[in-house]
Amino acid sequence: MTFSLELSDDVIAVRDWVHEFAVDVVRPAAAEWDEREETPWPVIQEAAKCGLYSMEMMITQAAEPTGLGILVVFEEMFWGDAGIGLSILGTALAAASLTSNGTPEQIGEWLPQMFGTPEEPLLGSFCSSEPGAGSDVGAILTRARYDEATDEWVINGTKTWATNGGIANVHIVVASVYPELGSRGQATFIIPPNTPGFSQGQKFKKHGIRASHTAEVVLSDVRVPGRMIVGGREKFEDRMARIRSGQRTAGQAAMKTFERTRPGVGAMAIGVARAAYEYALEYAQEREQFGRRIGDFQAIGFKLADMRSRIDAARLLVWRAGWMGRNNIPFTAAEGSMAKLAASEAAVHVTDEAIQILGGNGYTRDFPVLRGPGAAEIYTIFEGTSEIQRLVMARTITGLPLK
Ligand SMILES: Cc1cc2nc3c(=O)[nH]c(=O)nc-3n(C[C@H](O)[C@H](O)[C@H](O)COP(=O)(O)OP(=O)(O)OC[C@H]3O[C@@H](n4cnc5c(N)ncnc54)[C@H](O)[C@@H]3O)c2cc1C
Repeated sequence: MTFSLELSDDVIAVRDWVHEFAVDVVRPAAAEWDEREETPWPVIQEAAKCGLYSMEMMITQAAEPTGLGILVVFEEMFWGDAGIGLSILGTALAAASLTSNGTPEQIGEWLPQMFGTPEEPLLGSFCSSEPGAGSDVGAILTRARYDEATDEWVINGTKTWATNGGIANVHIVVASVYPELGSRGQATFIIPPNTPGFSQGQKFKKHGIRASHTAEVVLSDVRVPGRMIVGGREKFEDRMARIRSGQRTAGQAAMKTFERTRPGVGAMAIGVARAAYEYALEYAQEREQFGRRIGDFQAIGFKLADMRSRIDAARLLVWRAGWMGRNNIPFTAAEGSMAKLAASEAAVHVTDEAIQILGGNGYTRDFPVLRGPGAAEIYTIFEGTSEIQRLVMARTITGLPLK
């Protein structure tokens, strides 16, 4: 499929559908759930009832041939509100991890259980980060040991920063099976609901996206059936044998998955940036000082010009990476990381400038722009910090083992 900026009718339809939901349901609820710092279950339920939060929607948009379908969904939802947006669409990361590496049986059994039904929506959570292992994924201490006698995995460890951690129905947990092999000896495990030994630890009080639940999860002698290793035990052990014998393996599969999911995170950042820009633009066209609209001052007009340029430039990179990922075009310059880096840094700049354009009003919680920077900054941190995106890019374009 050739790249085109002209959106297909299907993509336009889904964009308009999500936009309408963001206007009618998300925005009116945003301030309340941000103040409450709670998961907005009634809003998730509304999204589930109209089919917007559903396994079918995710599958259809992920399979959309231009690769832009899922990106416009993210942009519009996060344009509505980033905290509620992540509450509704945060399941996507767990779903991506399961669908990219799981067996058809695992996907068939567990994907529906991440989404639930319109009457009873459920969530998924992807748990990789640990107190001592954020950027350094190879330092994960959570251990999974196979118990031959019972055909079970016994998992112990503490995960942190998990979006939907402890409130999800299905958790996908990264654990080390062969610590001596570093990140190559790690696997992901499906933790079913109500598994003994699995519990939520502290819930974090955050600077932004406060409607989205972020918490520690603790695994204490958690036992899950042998078939819960994502991709199956046989495939995993085969790969370990190839690694031990020095053969090349698809060991970078997890990194490739991240490269592909990063454009989606970039699209979230663009939604946040666009919301702040539009608000500031409207304000600058109305607010008067010195007998003129403030948008007439070059200082403010130039800010708006820069904000718009950064948003549009970042969106082009995000769409290019989304299209490349969907059409299996190799990321020879880490285009996924590039897109996320550009979009997250654009969002930080734009949301900060929006506050400046609103003056004192921008500094009060009565105006939504104040939530902008808190939301924007998360995109420079999760799914790899900006420094890590630069590292991935630098390694890819130089071919050197940069540290
Ligand atoms: C709200 C929120 C939601 C999250 N959701 C999830 C989730 O659902 N699942 C999950 O698994 N994780 C999640 N995370 C965790 C997130 O992915 C990590 O916070 C992130 O990867 C950074 O890890 P860290 O916080 O340990 O920072 P660190 O890795 O300690 O980094 C600290 C600083 O050092 C820099 N740094 C580290 N290593 C290098 C290097 N090699 N070169 C240059 N600079 C470096 C970093 O860029 C950063 O500036 C979430 C985090 C937050 C805040």
